[in-house]
Amino acid sequence: MKKLLKICKTSFIIPLLPTVCKKLTIIAQKTYNTYMIIDFHAHCYPDSLSHKAVYSIDDDWKDEFSEGTYRGLKKGMAEVGIDKAVVLPVCHKPDHEDVINGFVFELTLKDDSLIPFASVHPDTVGATGLVYEYAKKGIKGIKFHPPLQRFDIASEKLLPIYKAIKDCGLIAVFHCGKVGRERSELDLFPTDFEKILHHLGDKVVLAHMGGYGIKRDELDVLYNLPVYVGTSLSARQFTIDEYTEAIEKIGADRLLFGSDVPWGDVKRELDYLAHACANVKDWEKITCENAKRLLGIN
Ligand SMILES: [Zn+2]
Repeated sequence: MKKLLKICKTSFIIPLLPTVCKKLTIIAQKTYNTYMIIDFHAHCYPDSLSHKAVYSIDDDWKDEFSEGTYRGLKKGMAEVGIDKAVVLPVCHKPDHEDVINGFVFELTLKDDSLIPFASVHPDTVGATGLVYEYAKKGIKGIKFHPPLQRFDIASEKLLPIYKAIKDCGLIAVFHCGKVGRERSELDLFPTDFEKILHHLGDKVVLAHMGGYGIKRDELDVLYNLPVYVGTSLSARQFTIDEYTEAIEKIGADRLLFGSDVPWGDVKRELDYLAHACANVKDWEKITCENAKRLLGIN
C-alpha cells in the first residue's frame, strides 16, 4: 500500500492524479500482501563512465535522464517502490564481454534486488560459447542492441548464438526502434523479427513497445507476433488512448513493465501504465506476474 501511495504522491501527471490514484487504490486493496513491481528494463554503469554513457544518446527528453550509476538506479527504485530490476548490459564492441558483463554480475552478487542479463557481441570470437557459459552461471537472458552493436539481426553469424539461446531456454531482449533522436538503417521494428523468431525459442522480448518511434502499421504487425513486449518509453511515444489500445491489442499476458532508466523516467512510466491499464489483473500481470514467470521467480 505504501508504495502505491508513494507513486500517487510523486506522480508528475497532476491532472491525471485522481484517476491514477483511484486505480492504484483498487490495486492496493486487492494485492496488499503479495504485491511486487519488477522493472524489466534497467541499465547501470560504473561511476566513472555513467555520465558519458547516459549523455552519449541524443534525445528530446534529456531533462528526464537520470544518474546512470548503481546509486541512481537504486534511488529511482526506492522512490516508486520497485522491488526488482532486470539490469541489461550492452557490449558495444567485440571482446568486451568480461568487463561489461562483469560489472553487472558483480553488482548483482551483492544486491539480490537486481537481476543480471548478459550481452554478447556477435563479432566476438567465441560469442556462442559465452552464451552457454552465462546460462550455466544462472544468467536468465541476453540483451541485444543492434543499432549500437552495429549488426543485422538476420545475419547468418547470429544463428549459432540464437541456437544457444534457444537450447538454454534463455530470454532474448532486443532494443527496438531508433536510439534517441537518431535514426539508422539498423533500427528494428516488428516486421524485422518475422523471419528470425523461429531460431530463438519462445522467450523473445521486444523493448519499447516494438520500437521507439513505432508507427501504426508496425504496431499491427506486433499484435500478431508471438513475442513478449516491453513497455519502456511508452510515455514518450503514445497518447494515453494509443497506449491503452496497444495494451489491449497486445494483451496483458505478453507485456512487461520496463523503465529504461537512466534514459526513461521510472515514475513517469509507471504512472502512465497505471493510467492506461484497464484493470487490476492486467496491472499485476504487466508489472509483476509475467516477469516472475519468465524469470522463474516464486
Ligand atoms: Zn534500454
